[in-house]
Amino acid sequence: MSHASITAAVCAAATAVVVAGGATVVPARASGTPATTSAAPAATAAFTDIYFTFDDGPHPTWTPRVLAVLRKYNARATFFMVGQNVVRYPYLLSSVRAYGHHTSNHTWSHPNLTQLSTASVTWQLNKTDAAMGSTRRKCVRPPYGATNDRIRSIISARGQRQVLWNIDTRDWSRPGTTTIYNRIVYNARPGRIVLMHDGGGDRSQTVAALDRALANLRSRGYTFRYIPYC
Ligand SMILES: [Zn+2]
Repeated sequence: MSHASITAAVCAAATAVVVAGGATVVPARASGTPATTSAAPAATAAFTDIYFTFDDGPHPTWTPRVLAVLRKYNARATFFMVGQNVVRYPYLLSSVRAYGHHTSNHTWSHPNLTQLSTASVTWQLNKTDAAMGSTRRKCVRPPYGATNDRIRSIISARGQRQVLWNIDTRDWSRPGTTTIYNRIVYNARPGRIVLMHDGGGDRSQTVAALDRALANLRSRGYTFRYIPYC
C-alpha cells in the first residue's frame, strides 16, 4: 500500500548530532560499520529515543517476524493496525501488546479519509477502536498520510491524536534491504518517528533492514521506544 509522505522531506546529509551525555551520533557508512565517535552513554534516555512504527498489520507471517527482531534488541515500537486485520488475527494484537509495544488506530479498511464523509470517517475509527479494546486508542494514523483540517478536527474531537512520521522508509515499495536500511540510519535523529510496515505485502526486506538498522542505531547510542503519547 502506497504511503505518500506529506511531512517535510528529511535531510539526508550526514550531520553529526550531539546527544545527551556527550555521545556524538554520526550516521554510519552504508556498509553498516558503526560510526559512533564516542562510547559515552547518554545520560538522558529521552534524548536518545527514536520511535519505530509499523503500519497495516497485524499479519500472520510478518508481524511475528518484526516482533522477533524488536525483541532481539529489547526495542519497543508503536503498531498502527488496520481494524479488519485485528478481527481476523486477534491473537496477534495480544502478542504485540504482550511484547510491550503500543497499538494504535490505522482505520478499519485503509481508505483515504479525505475522500470520505465525516460519518464514514467516524465509522472507520469507531469500528477499529472497538476491535482493539474497550477504550479509544490514543493515536490515529490516517492511511497514506492523507489528511486535512477536517480529518484533524474529527480525530482531535474524539480525544485522539493524529500521528504521521519523520522518516519514510518506503519499505512497502520493496526497494531493497540496503535502501531501506540507509533511509533509516542516515536520517535517524533523536525524537524522530520511522515509518515501516508489517502488513500489506511481502515484508521480508522490512524485517532484514530493521535488524541491521537496530544494530547500527544501538551502537550509536539510540534507544527504541513506543511513541510516548500513543
Ligand atoms: Zn497504511
